[in-house]
Amino acid sequence: TLSDRLADTFKNLRGKGRLSEADIDATAREIRIALLEADVALPVVKEFVGAVKERARGEEVSGALNPAQQIIKIVHEELVTILGGETRRLRYAKSGPTVIMLAGLQGAGKTTLAAKLALWLKDQDKTPMLVAADLQRPNAVQQLQVNGERVGVPVFAPEPGNGTGNPVDVARASIEEAKRKLHDVVIIDTAGRLGVDAELMQQAKDIRDAVQPDEVLFVVDAMIGQDAVVTAQAFLDGVGYDGVVLTKLDGDARGGAALSIRSITGKPVMFASSGEKMTDFDLFHPDRMASRILDMGDMLTLIEQAEKAFDSDQALKAAEKLGTKGGFTLEDFLQQMQQIRKLGSMTKIMGMLPGMGQFRDQLENFDEREIDRIQAIIQSMTPAERENPKIIDGSRRARIAKGSGRQVSDVNQLVDRFFEARKMMEQMARGGGMPGMPGMPG
Ligand code: GDP
Ligand code: MG
Repeated sequence: TLSDRLADTFKNLRGKGRLSEADIDATAREIRIALLEADVALPVVKEFVGAVKERARGEEVSGALNPAQQIIKIVHEELVTILGGETRRLRYAKSGPTVIMLAGLQGAGKTTLAAKLALWLKDQDKTPMLVAADLQRPNAVQQLQVNGERVGVPVFAPEPGNGTGNPVDVARASIEEAKRKLHDVVIIDTAGRLGVDAELMQQAKDIRDAVQPDEVLFVVDAMIGQDAVVTAQAFLDGVGYDGVVLTKLDGDARGGAALSIRSITGKPVMFASSGEKMTDFDLFHPDRMASRILDMGDMLTLIEQAEKAFDSDQALKAAEKLGTKGGFTLEDFLQQMQQIRKLGSMTKIMGMLPGMGQFRDQLENFDEREIDRIQAIIQSMTPAERENPKIIDGSRRARIAKGSGRQVSDVNQLVDRFFEARKMMEQMARGGGMPGMPGMPG
């Protein structure tokens, strides 16, 4: 994965303070490979990586991240932007039923998606109707009827014995039916072929012209990889559409198709379909897709956490506290410990932070249960003791030890550690240095 490969790049980058041209190039190379592996089309990759490098050169260097992390953060943000930023919502008709038409190759997942979308709309108090306008494939009508039944949504289909029927007539008639029966959304399932062909495009176009859909959705299988772009362009030229639905995201596909389609056609991905169950369906979330394309969810989480840990506001608050009456108390100390726990695995995070390498050994021996013990001890103290730890004498220590089920020596150790931490905080406040993790056991 990209995480693995970047780990090597990181080895060289860790500890350096700013983005050098060589750093940018090395990381860009890895990202280029990752995007290609995720099936992003080559021209899109080139343009994208170029834009990222440009931005990386101009970027201010953040204190919390090392250079490679910083580039990844940029890449992630740019991916989210290109994937559409905000999720694009369905546009409903101002009056009369909203007409949604599905188009795409055979096997893309249109019929399945039609029912999923109907269920999703039903859950939002809509009263959808499904329309079987695929009269090409044997059993296509029946397949939609079965799916419709599963989600409890009526299906409009040509009557049996009506001959082959004409999908354009069926689609047109379905709108009248929807008006009569007060359905507020009509979802039209259409025929697909195995490949793009002129007759198929003409049929889809005829249906489109007959029903004037509010939304034409192009349905595409994420597993077809690079071919998705060619198909997406062909349907755009042949039928036209407003949005894209990506299906079969439960497979191995990393979803680079989403990026390619979006940047080549300019059409937003609106929904994502990810399984055989009718509920395996959701609005498309650009941020989730960006993480999936980069295949480095863990890394992105770490970056976020590292930034939070070094949140300058937090450092400022701690420093301000030292200037106020009472200063840094055991209450603050406890809060800080809890913050550390929230960050998850200390060792992992600290290893990622610039300049933290020297604490590595200490960190590897870090025991998270230690925080539980510290918490128990501090919670056995009175509010007065927490505010002013100087008053914690021998008899108080014995009481606290008993209350928390620890030894007096544990209490002694904690109090010592607290005073050390306070000293560190005071030094920091004077010197304006990095807050670090005062009182860290080790
Ligand atoms: P259509 O030809 O475009 O109507 O495609 P279908 O809806 O008939 O789907 C083709 C096949 O893909 C069927 O076997 C579906 O069960 C399957 N399928 C559809 N959507 C998904 C999905 O999101 N995940 C998986 N794993 N399979 C899907
Ligand atoms: Mg179908």
